[in-house]
Parts: sequence; C-alpha cells; structure tokens
Amino acid sequence: MFFVGPAGYPPGSKGALQAVENVRKLGLDALEVQFGRSVNLSVEKGRELAPRARELGVALSAHAPYYINFNSEGDNRAKSENWLLSSLRSADAMGARIVVVHAASYMGRPSSAATRAVVDSLRRVRKVVADEGLTPIIGLETMGKVGSWGTLEEIAQVMAEVEGVEPVPDFAHIHARGQGCLRTEEDFQRAVDGAMDLFPGRLHCHFSCIEYTAKGEKRHLLLETKEPDFELLCRVLPRAGRDVTLICESPDPSGDAVTMRRMLER
Ligand SMILES: [Zn+2]
Repeated sequence: MFFVGPAGYPPGSKGALQAVENVRKLGLDALEVQFGRSVNLSVEKGRELAPRARELGVALSAHAPYYINFNSEGDNRAKSENWLLSSLRSADAMGARIVVVHAASYMGRPSSAATRAVVDSLRRVRKVVADEGLTPIIGLETMGKVGSWGTLEEIAQVMAEVEGVEPVPDFAHIHARGQGCLRTEEDFQRAVDGAMDLFPGRLHCHFSCIEYTAKGEKRHLLLETKEPDFELLCRVLPRAGRDVTLICESPDPSGDAVTMRRMLER
C-alpha cells in the first residue's frame, strides 16, 4: 500500500488538526509535520491530533529540527539530542510512526568519526526513548550535500549498532549527491533495493526534483522538472512488495503530492 502526502501543512490549514483534514480532502493519506525550525506541536496538541489522523487514515510522521548536528562540540551536541527527543515525544503523542532527522555535518572530520558521533548520540537518545516508552522510529535521511553526513552506507553502519533506526531515502538528495545518478528505472531500482536490504518494514521516503552543483544539493524543484523523473520511481515501487510512504518535498508539496498519487495509481 502507498501512503502519499506533503511535507508540511497544505495551504490554508490553520493548525495541525485542519492540516490532517485538508490532506484527506486532497485525496492524500500521509503528512510529515515539520519541526524544522522548532518542535512547535506540544504533546497535548499531539494527543488531540492522533485520533483524528487515525480516523481519517492519514499516516503521520515528523521532521526533526534542521539545526541538529550530533557531530558537534559540547553544548550543541547535548542540545541536538534534546531536540530530537522533543520531536520524538511530540511525534509519539500524535501517533507518528517515524521522526526523520538530518543527523550531522562532517565539520572537516572523516566520515568514520562523524558516524561514531551519530552512533553515540543516538544510543543516548534511544536509552531515553526506551525509558519513556516512546514508539516512533528514528529515520536517518540520505543527505544531498557532499558536506553532510548521510550516505546510505553511513546510515547502514549506524543501523548495525543502534536499534530503532531506519533509512529514509530522499531521492532528490541521492540524485544531487550522485551528480544526477538517477536516470533510469535500474538506477531507481538500485537505490530502493539499497534501502530495503537494510530492514524489513515499511519504507519511508522523500521525493522532489532538485537542482545541484558539484557540492550536491542546491534547491528543491517542482515535479514537472523531472530531475529526477518520478515516473521511473513509479515503475519501481509497486514491485517493492511492501508498504511505502512517500513524502513530497517540492516547492508545491501538496499539489505535487496529488500528482504523485495520481501517477502511482495509473
Ligand atoms: Zn529532510
């Protein structure tokens, strides 16, 4: 089964509850609540949201703050762990299955050192998650800039050491980091298989089109730019044989999510 929806509230939504209703009105069934700038949905508000989302069949997820960086010094590292924890608490209250996070930047350090830092931080976070009985999974997003930690290989290394972590393939980011590497159905098949080989469950992914430079991601673009072409992913995903959530992160996330839904149903 496919669950498709926007990153962020559909236009005109006043608050989270209306956003879930508007997602449903658009014929969509997923919503990624954005905590990019701050965790702006309290546990209390989350608890009001959960039953309505369940009733309307809208699969909720959350995106943790962008300024999280587990490969940072002192204060900022502890703060990053706390920002992820607040995201997980609100996500748990609203019944979200997964919290997506940009885990780290290299900060001039080698990949292995950054991976080590991510593992150590996520172990601490997971300890609290277990103590508090929070249910959401931590989703590590594949990152689009060459200076950002988060290749599928790095994510796999963390998954080998920390429980409750899943990969979140962002196809725009994979395409940008790989200098336009998603050109054929086979390219997408490899990217999807790479993520699916790491775990057995529902696959949570991000899609948009993207502009890139030698440093990778520059900015997200509308679906119509076909960079990469969603049609190719449409042919691959039905063969995945498992539930897939697709979150649209284009500059028109709701409009393009509706198009994506329609293309998947053809
Ligand atoms: Zn992201």
